[in-house]
Amino acid sequence: MIHYGSRHPAQFSNNPGRRWAMSSDSDTPQPGYDTCNIHLRMLGEDRTFTVPVPLGKRTLLDLLPAARELTGQAMAVAVDQEARQGRPISCASGCSACCRHLVAVSPAEAQDLADFVAELPAERQAAVRERFAEAKRKFESIGLLVAGETHGERGMHSSQGANHSERVRTLSYRYFQEQIACPFLENDTCIAYERRPMVCREHCVTSPAENCAHLDGSGVRPVTPPIDMAPVLARAGKRLLGMKAQTVPLILALEWSERNCGPLRQEHDGVELLQTIVEECDRNYDQDFESRSDYVK
Ligand code: SF4
Ligand code: SF4
Repeated sequence: MIHYGSRHPAQFSNNPGRRWAMSSDSDTPQPGYDTCNIHLRMLGEDRTFTVPVPLGKRTLLDLLPAARELTGQAMAVAVDQEARQGRPISCASGCSACCRHLVAVSPAEAQDLADFVAELPAERQAAVRERFAEAKRKFESIGLLVAGETHGERGMHSSQGANHSERVRTLSYRYFQEQIACPFLENDTCIAYERRPMVCREHCVTSPAENCAHLDGSGVRPVTPPIDMAPVLARAGKRLLGMKAQTVPLILALEWSERNCGPLRQEHDGVELLQTIVEECDRNYDQDFESRSDYVK
């Protein structure tokens, strides 16, 4: 359960399910932003922290810094619990076997990553775009992607599996089998680190790092993320912008954004955007882990 507080308590004062706290002692916010105290109650622990709230009319993309802070704090609760039980995290910089997994991003993250690529200097941008193209050609060649399907609407396919969860597992396994590095990986370093997807922020393990290279996942003990922020953002996009509540495979993010970016430029009140995300976090926390995502077609 997440409760949240802000400098604008009157706006939500008729919502009895929430607890408010003024944030007068918070750090000076960046220009164009206010700050909001979030009270997090999760896995039996309470935490209070500050997130940036964009002022005035803003887009869902402007809420990504707040969403990253939310998911980082939720993961910190889970990681601290693992450590207290004698299971410290194995992840370290330069360790990148996990950057060969299928990564699913929300529409807002897909757009943000497309913007990140567009902001790169021309030569570097061309190299990154070529890695995206190369990865897609590879997955088309083995049938996980269909070349002839409309770009921006297509997803990754798995026909094996009796139900959604099994198809997700099969697709994830076949994807990892190919050992195609994420297009953002250069010299075992993520060049999009500050803007890396929520899934990347939520993935860490307590098992030996070398086990992460096992294709069948044997010996890998991932920390279960208390919240999956990508589906949370996808559902917020549906509620606020009327978008399809889906996630997008990272390697399709650039072609997806070319066709679908329009609604993500719609502006809403920044506090309303944060409120929607927090409400969707509450829903996600209560959901069964395997029913949180729906990117397999
Ligand atoms: S998940 Fe595994 S491969 Fe990725 S950083 Fe952690 S230990 Fe390294
Ligand atoms: S975005 Fe960065 S952290 Fe995530 S899979 Fe790609 S290289 Fe790894």
